[in-house]
Amino acid sequence: MSKLFIGGGWQSASNPESIPVYAPATGEAYAEIARGQAADIDLAVRAARAAVQGEWGALSATERGRILVRIGLSVLDNIDELAAIEAKDTGKPLALARKDMEALARYFEFYGGAADKLHGQVIPYLSGYSVNVVREAYGVVGHIIPWNYPAQMLGRTIAPALAMGNASVVKPAEDACMTSLRFAELASAAGLPAGALNIVTGYGREAGAALAAHPDINLITFTGSPQVGVEIQTAAARNHVKCVLELGGKSPQIVFADADLDKAVPIIVGAIIQNAGQTCSAGSRLLVQREIYDQVIERVAARFREIRVGAPETSPDCGPIITRAQFERVQRFIAEVKESGLPVLAEGVLDANLPAEGYYVAPTLFGPVPRDHKLALEEVFGPVLAAMPFDDEDDAVALANGTEYGLVAAIWSENGARQQRLAKRLEAGQVFINCYGAGGGVELPFGGVRKSGHGREKGFLALEEFSVTKTVVSHHG
Ligand code: NAD
Repeated sequence: MSKLFIGGGWQSASNPESIPVYAPATGEAYAEIARGQAADIDLAVRAARAAVQGEWGALSATERGRILVRIGLSVLDNIDELAAIEAKDTGKPLALARKDMEALARYFEFYGGAADKLHGQVIPYLSGYSVNVVREAYGVVGHIIPWNYPAQMLGRTIAPALAMGNASVVKPAEDACMTSLRFAELASAAGLPAGALNIVTGYGREAGAALAAHPDINLITFTGSPQVGVEIQTAAARNHVKCVLELGGKSPQIVFADADLDKAVPIIVGAIIQNAGQTCSAGSRLLVQREIYDQVIERVAARFREIRVGAPETSPDCGPIITRAQFERVQRFIAEVKESGLPVLAEGVLDANLPAEGYYVAPTLFGPVPRDHKLALEEVFGPVLAAMPFDDEDDAVALANGTEYGLVAAIWSENGARQQRLAKRLEAGQVFINCYGAGGGVELPFGGVRKSGHGREKGFLALEEFSVTKTVVSHHG
């Protein structure tokens, strides 16, 4: 589909060149997408502005919510088709792609129901005045999203924006955008008015940069790498618009001597190999209290050796990496860590007869990783777990907070008082106690601190993020 979805229908891009789309499982180029440019972004922003000023903007919150719920149902009606598109496009196991579609539907169900539930305030003020604080849409929102959870990310960012009455211009990742294009058609068929949702495919430095810099957007949200996040925030600052950033992480899983290891070990391993480690909230650091370090490593290593890496349709534990470039980057990272002399404690197993051109990496457990090693500090964005011992609670906190990131942290301990002390001291946007991710419910506010970004998506809080208050003061005598 080398077209753009603008103003409720398919449009040719201003530039006839297209971008090839590769299947990570086989390395085969199987489709093409349009290479959108600044002119296409401009067209999409105009279509979005017209929607805000026209039919879409005139709907009541309840009517908007009803459309969103219908979109969610349409995703469920088409779940087999959408999951198959996503699995082929990203290489993720089919079961995971299906879960992603359920999440996409759930975003629309949740925010559809919530659209008319965020009320304003009446503020008691001086006599003779009445003060109402009302919530309004920003207007046109730009969304730049990554390739690791393309469908989930789409739902997470546009459902709350649309719920509040904004119109969206989305620049999906050039490496995985096939579901967003099919989704746009389904949303339109479910009754979303023309221009409320526009999808412009293309490269980040072309279409993405043009969207971030467009003078007629009112808010920009970005999920991706910290480096690009700085560029997005700079562009937003030039236009004086608000910017929501969801960036990377180096999230710690902290295991105390009193942890229930039977429960913890499978979840710890799952938290780093899900989506081949290409998850911003991956639990990529395993911090273990020294007295049980050897025991935990033995159990985690045993599990790592059972991890099966394979193609999406074979129900593997771990699929391929998204692109050849990312595959080479992750391979290089692992090779450098090995060359630095760090012991490999365990590796997963690649299925026999994998396509030679597929982007498969064996999940790898390293440890003990010195605290100043690049593996202890830098995000790999691949299935690599760094194990490190700690002494006591203070040491665990220092180690956990000792990177530039602050997205997620997990505490494994049966001691309730310790759980609460740690939850308070950990610098992270989400803290999990004796669990990790907890099913990723759309109800749970999500976002980081420090280099992991700012702003909150998911949950009811996202409705506040995607709307702005207006204080209306009237004097009546
Ligand atoms: P990326 O930053 O290169 O790309 C993300 C998106 O930004 C893509 O759509 C891309 O086309 C676009 N882009 C790239 N350069 C741009 C530019 N100059 N101007 C405007 N847009 C531009 O990141 P990636 O390699 O696709 O994703 C991996 C990174 O994203 C990792 O660091 C990961 O931690 C992070 N990530 C974070 C979250 C989160 O929720 N916090 C989720 C997924 C990924």
